[in-house]
Amino acid sequence: MDASAFFKIGYGLYLVTTRDGAGRDNGMICNTVVQATATPARITVIINKQNYTHETVKETGLMNVCVLSRSAPFSLFKRFGFQSGRDADKFEGMEKIRAANSLAIVGADVANAVFALKVASYVDLGTHGLFVCDVLEAQTMSDEPTMTYDYYHENVKPKPEAQKPASAGEPKKWVCVICGYIYDPAENGGVAFEDLPADWTCPWCKHPKTDFKPL
Ligand code: FE
Repeated sequence: MDASAFFKIGYGLYLVTTRDGAGRDNGMICNTVVQATATPARITVIINKQNYTHETVKETGLMNVCVLSRSAPFSLFKRFGFQSGRDADKFEGMEKIRAANSLAIVGADVANAVFALKVASYVDLGTHGLFVCDVLEAQTMSDEPTMTYDYYHENVKPKPEAQKPASAGEPKKWVCVICGYIYDPAENGGVAFEDLPADWTCPWCKHPKTDFKPL
């Protein structure tokens, strides 16, 4: 099987928002949002079971989907994509905007549409769960084009090539090929990347050391 073939499948990028049983707002970046049927209006959302959002949607049966627009900045992807709602308040310091169903959403500056969803059925996919949802409300927010996965990689995610390479004698910086995080020994007590423990993970996206390459 040619694994790179999977990268050819086109996706949009979405912010899925929820609220847990304790009333805490949460959200995650998701690329697996698809309209399933028009009558009734249904959307499917696939979520990795390791995501806190999977747990809260299972618990509450509710989520909102914000369709991210091309104006969504990298900081939004860091905030909602590179940390877990289990140990971080992802909405911290953000102006709280609420949809009619009272779940938090983001504004027209970063999203072009929002859907309020109620889970109708669930399919266990092993590592992931597929939520088939009824659309309770749908609202267009702006005319900005939708953020696609390709556009994100080309124009939003920082390019590692833009960084200055280390000069001879300086300990090397390494970059996470998944999220763009740069490990700089100078900011980490002079510890060379090679000397980090084998189970060390990217502080942003939690991918392993094997997903880093030297700058
Ligand atoms: Fe990373």
